[in-house]
Amino acid sequence: MRERAMKFGTKAIHAGVEADPATGAIMTPIYQTSTYAQTAPGVHKGYEYSRTHNPTRTALQNALAALENGKHGLCFSSGMASIDAIVKLLKPGDEVVSTNDLYGGTYRLFTKVYADLGIVFRFVDMGDMANVSAAINDKTKLIWAETPTNPLLKIIDIAALAALAEKHKCLLGVDNTFASPFLQNPMDLGADIVMHSVTKYLGGHSDVVMGALVVKDDALHERLAFIQNSCGAIPGPQDCFLVLRGLKTLHLRMQRHSENGKVIAEWLVKHPKVDKVYWPGFPSHPNHVVAKKQMRDFGGMMSFTLKGDNMADATKFLSTTKVFTLAESLGGVESLSGHPASMTHASIPREERLKNGLTDTLIRLSVGLEDAEDLIEDLEQALG
Ligand SMILES: *Cc1c(COP(=O)(O)O)cnc(C)c1O
Repeated sequence: MRERAMKFGTKAIHAGVEADPATGAIMTPIYQTSTYAQTAPGVHKGYEYSRTHNPTRTALQNALAALENGKHGLCFSSGMASIDAIVKLLKPGDEVVSTNDLYGGTYRLFTKVYADLGIVFRFVDMGDMANVSAAINDKTKLIWAETPTNPLLKIIDIAALAALAEKHKCLLGVDNTFASPFLQNPMDLGADIVMHSVTKYLGGHSDVVMGALVVKDDALHERLAFIQNSCGAIPGPQDCFLVLRGLKTLHLRMQRHSENGKVIAEWLVKHPKVDKVYWPGFPSHPNHVVAKKQMRDFGGMMSFTLKGDNMADATKFLSTTKVFTLAESLGGVESLSGHPASMTHASIPREERLKNGLTDTLIRLSVGLEDAEDLIEDLEQALG
């Protein structure tokens, strides 16, 4: 089948996956092997050693490349390992312009690991492209964006960033974890590298930790594949199998996440105890127009604050829900709640967090696939 012409749901089920050449098995087998027989030195079937290539991983990498409208996929042992591979494209003295509303672990990797190795990171509010332009200079090699942002659900204009990246001849990398390829394809808007924490929506079942990159450019792929193989942060075949299985329902899951997300966001915003609700689907959201332009729907991630901005109220709420589980992570079938200031974003200094609007009482929801009525009943009792 011509993957280009396929619609998303068909690609989610078929792309990258072929019946097993040895047996005809419909589902890609878990090639639980570290090495492969050679008939003479250097004579083999394209597989030598599983750090370099593994057939289960190859199927997944091809599937992800197709879902992001890219050409090459690369899987890593975690989302962080995939971002780490991108930073390894750089040299001491090179500069990165990054969004300031960033996943805590990415901020930590940039500021606590790579800043010490001589790479310079400039964090700016990418809501205004003038901030990005002002931070770019002739040492800038990478623009790094996350949209929707975590946890404030700001939307960054990917096409506008791509224009800047092209003008200044630097790479544009986009962390597409929150949107998933169902809601947004940064590569279609000009991004050079799309990154996913596969742990989240792509895996979708909270049973795997994995990362992935998708690129179009052959030379860039070659450099990243070299880093993947040289540094060795690869996922095992069992995890690749689980994600291949998860991908087959990605379109159905994202539709339901988005439907439930809309119901919950619209319910929360009317609740007398709720103060602000951050969700890009509201026409009043400051970046709603950009969200509508670059996303197909608005997803199931949102954050909110309670009136009074009282820590005790937020803690009480988070420990009282019964269907929503208080836990790190997002994007699984089950609904999760989180407290970014003490959990996902604890690695960002408090002043830095407050500057960006991430208050101590902010609550983040990953709305799952349960029945919306049950989710609302749970929120109602926890707010009461
Ligand atoms: C979870 C997450 C990451 C890190 O991915 P891991 O798989 O946990 O290493 C990066 N970016 C975003 C937006 C995330 O939510």
